Amino acid sequence: EAFNANVAKAKVLNAFLVETPDHALAAADAADAARAAGETPKPLAGVPIGMKDLFCTKGVPSTAASLILEGFTPPYESTVSGKLWDAGAGMLGKLNMDQFAMGSSNETSAFGNVISPWRRNDGGNAALAPGGSSGGSSAAIAARLCPAATGTDTGGSIRQPAAFVGISGIKPTYGRCSRWGVVAFASSLDQAGPMARDVRDCAIMLEAMSGFDPKDATSLDLAVPKWEAGLSGDLRGKRIGIPKEYRVDNMPAEIDALWQQGIAWAKDAGAEIVEVSLPHTKYALPAYYIIAPAEASSNLARYDGVRYGLRDLPEGAGLQDMYAATRAAGFGPEVKRRIMIGTYVLSAGFYDAYFTQASKVRALIARDFDRAWEQCDLLLTPTAPSAAFALGEKSADPIAMYLNDVFTVPSSLAGLPAMSVPGGLDSNGLPLGLQIIGKALDEQGVLNAGLALE
Ligand code: GLN
Repeated sequence: EAFNANVAKAKVLNAFLVETPDHALAAADAADAARAAGETPKPLAGVPIGMKDLFCTKGVPSTAASLILEGFTPPYESTVSGKLWDAGAGMLGKLNMDQFAMGSSNETSAFGNVISPWRRNDGGNAALAPGGSSGGSSAAIAARLCPAATGTDTGGSIRQPAAFVGISGIKPTYGRCSRWGVVAFASSLDQAGPMARDVRDCAIMLEAMSGFDPKDATSLDLAVPKWEAGLSGDLRGKRIGIPKEYRVDNMPAEIDALWQQGIAWAKDAGAEIVEVSLPHTKYALPAYYIIAPAEASSNLARYDGVRYGLRDLPEGAGLQDMYAATRAAGFGPEVKRRIMIGTYVLSAGFYDAYFTQASKVRALIARDFDRAWEQCDLLLTPTAPSAAFALGEKSADPIAMYLNDVFTVPSSLAGLPAMSVPGGLDSNGLPLGLQIIGKALDEQGVLNAGLALE
């Protein structure tokens, strides 16, 4: 019933691509039956969650918000979604997103953008971006359509949308969550993670989603810590680093004020604040926008009109024509832009100048973090350089859109756990997010700091 009552709201926001109320109801019934039988409840017993459409879900259409996957219904379940069902959760539906997770505003979806449930309080009534690429996830949680959802984060796609709508989200260490059954964007960066109303819910979700998977060659063979039980919100004895290079040019005063507020909260919770330097920060964005498209161009070669969804086979056409027609019709403009950039930077003549160089920069960025850890345990920064912008405001200018990822991509390139928690509202009444970055495998430290700051 609650689901049906929310369907109208969901339609306005365009957060769901597919609705699966029966899946959620079955989980609720199973939870009731287990309770009646006196069994110990599973960690997510009966919890109805949203599933980003990047996750393949058995028997449920999965399109990554692209026309090229229209009509594709996976005969298998992604490891992460399967783990969530094993933990007792049920699925309300598949959530809208930027096409193939490429974007920061949800505007690259082939099925229409998602609208943030937030409005500015200054009378400006423009519809706002819910962030991206996990924009359906952020909007659905902020609008109270579901208590939690999955996201994926390649360069910020969990953290930036969480920041834009005032919720929490964590990208764990690369390798914590299996990528098996998650539509690939940039395989060396892609990580799944939870988005939820608060840090505790994120910890519970992350425990269910994490764990070794022999089907993913980059999966970490480590036990999953009891993060929720370990939550304290106590930062005594912790040194929190403030990276001076994140004080970027033209940073709005309100973002700086948010950062100072976060620093004050961290001190209140007992942390010691230290200034640190991450000297290669300014090269992170250009390196990311070479490496991610390069990997994407390779990953997306599989959409050939033979396997998966769309096939465009013009009358009398040959194989090459079918590839071209299918890919021309199936991929959106941002996806085509990335494939072109990616093929260019990987081409024989330019490989060394671009891809090799970007890979070296990536190593330097990882080393910056390693050096910072000699001085501090965690890093605190803003999540994004702005609050939610209006839909359409940046969609004509890809560079302006890419710049919104400036604070989230460095930790992605280094594979580190990072989280966004709500940091309060700006003068227009819009949420701003604080980002905590941790050492590899220190999700506990990140979650604890998140709890102290939220
Ligand atoms: N906005 C970034 C991009 O477009 C990050 C996307 C993501 O993390 N999936 O690539």
